[in-house]
Amino acid sequence: MTEFVIAAPATPSVAIAGSQQRFPIRRVFCVGRNYSEHAREMGHDPDREPPFFFMKPADAVVPAQGTIAYPPLTQDLHHEVELVVAIGKGGVDIDPVTALDHVWGYGVGLDLTRRDLQAQAKKLGRPWSWAKGFDESAPCSPLIPASQLGHPQEGTVWLKVNGQERQRGDLADQIWPVQDVISYLSQSGALKAGDLIFTGTPAGVGALQPGDSVSAGIEGVAQLELTIGRR
Ligand code: MN
Repeated sequence: MTEFVIAAPATPSVAIAGSQQRFPIRRVFCVGRNYSEHAREMGHDPDREPPFFFMKPADAVVPAQGTIAYPPLTQDLHHEVELVVAIGKGGVDIDPVTALDHVWGYGVGLDLTRRDLQAQAKKLGRPWSWAKGFDESAPCSPLIPASQLGHPQEGTVWLKVNGQERQRGDLADQIWPVQDVISYLSQSGALKAGDLIFTGTPAGVGALQPGDSVSAGIEGVAQLELTIGRR
């Protein structure tokens, strides 16, 4: 057995609905602007852009329940509800036609964003990492195996804050559906088992305040409910 000079970090993982087993997380990819209305609300023309990606640390994924910390360095923490895809079988240059065979399961997650830091990074031409990759920035529901769920291609994507609807869209409105996202990602590098993909958010993103109660879901997939902690 390999001897490490410090204790090896635990493998980040996400729960599986109705099971004691867990899904180990290797990397977390996120798609930027995958719904036209959201691209427009962020000031971009959705028809002119190929998909693009950013990443979060694997251990930014936490259970989407209980209290999620309000992160430091921001006055503008935004919610983004997203379909999460769990990759069970890796590959390179994956054909969109067979891409869904690589999916182990699906969940619902939040791509929490320090929007003020993101705006500053955009302005200065700097990376988004500080805006996107903080602790607890990727709450995720338990995963549902594709063997049970199939591969959802449509269904309402919604998010409420303190009972008021903020976001609403439909999986059918994704500019790049899951099979295309997988194909694109695998052209840049090897996609591997354990990778998670947050597939982008519909319109209606906005600020969360400490103490807010957030509920969100995707029709036919899963729901989540959590509270935002103190600053
Ligand atoms: Mn997002």
